[in-house]
Amino acid sequence: MSKLKLCPFCGSVVITPCNHNGKNATCINNSCPIRYLRMDVILWNTRPIEDKLQTDNKRLLDIFNDECAIGAKRDAELKEALSEIEVYHSGRP
Ligand SMILES: [Zn+2]
Repeated sequence: MSKLKLCPFCGSVVITPCNHNGKNATCINNSCPIRYLRMDVILWNTRPIEDKLQTDNKRLLDIFNDECAIGAKRDAELKEALSEIEVYHSGRP
């Protein structure tokens, strides 16, 4: 059996209660709106929209990190150029 995903409503850990076939999942959070729902684990873990959003989020985070790295490189180059300009205006080589 693959690892159970967290509850989509509250993010709590999910358990597989003992039953006649042992293939159901349920949320253990007493405050969760689906607390008493028992669902087949394959159906529980099938979340195409959530999976797509996670893939999109990872791709966007990768783009963000790349842009931050580019920005940091540009910042370092500008600081170096500013330093050279300051040396030039101070009259000292
Ligand atoms: Zn829950």
